[in-house]
Amino acid sequence: MNKSIKQPVVLTVAGFDPSGGAGILADVKTMSAFGCFGVAAITSITFQNTQRVFGKVDLDIESLRRQLMPLFDDFEIAAIKTGMLPTAQVNREIAAMIRARSIPVVVIDPVLTSTVGDDLVDDDAANAIMEDLVPLASVVTPNIAEAGRLARLDIGSTNDVRRAAEAFLRRGAGAVLITGGDVDDDELSTDLLLDASGSTVYSTERVKSTNTHGTGCTLASALACLLARGLSLRVAIPIAKQYIAAAIHQAPGLGTGNGPLKHFLFGFDGEKPDSPD
Ligand code: PLP
Repeated sequence: MNKSIKQPVVLTVAGFDPSGGAGILADVKTMSAFGCFGVAAITSITFQNTQRVFGKVDLDIESLRRQLMPLFDDFEIAAIKTGMLPTAQVNREIAAMIRARSIPVVVIDPVLTSTVGDDLVDDDAANAIMEDLVPLASVVTPNIAEAGRLARLDIGSTNDVRRAAEAFLRRGAGAVLITGGDVDDDELSTDLLLDASGSTVYSTERVKSTNTHGTGCTLASALACLLARGLSLRVAIPIAKQYIAAAIHQAPGLGTGNGPLKHFLFGFDGEKPDSPD
């Protein structure tokens, strides 16, 4: 009998985006693409499509506990990745759950707004990310706007990006990756990694596209999987960035607004297969 190789179980705690581009659907697709087994707990049901967010219903703490406890009781969680955590109370609850267990990899993606700019979490939640979750993080993955809001800095220069990164380390994060995908640069997408061993800048060619819905969720999930598989951050980041660039490049062009990525780059994509004759 063939013994199957165990896939690392990676847990996402995030919002549900029914249009499939962001949130837990993007996370679990990414986890499958990276050979991990994705399990998920929903923090909020958002109402949205590729054009805009129409509203949301946040789940209460009891519903969150009742999703998570059976998972913690049953699986060995190799990595946890957090996304949209809508209230301070939810942030504190997730932090307490992480502290009570030894989860080897903790990736905190501090989601504050949707791709098109709607607020997804309240101000207290933003403060709680910094106070409660950042100190537990193996890596935090804010974009420039999120980094500025969380570190309370107006980011206008690369020096400011560095100062914001330092604020995350002072809070106790193991590492911070500030992503520059949203910055106005026609040529490059540049990210800054800072950890105890210093800083590294990662630049990849910018893929010009409106199909960028869920890039933050996808990057953080890819990193959680690669770290769960034992890769170092400095090896994992270029792989995750290349994956995002290809997933944008090959985006399926769905919806009329900010479209989703192609998470399965090499899978069956709906083309009629050649007949064998
Ligand atoms: N999480 C949820 C539930 C969302 O709806 C969104 C954006 O709409 C995000 C996270 C953030 O998306 P992105 O990965 O594009 O930053």
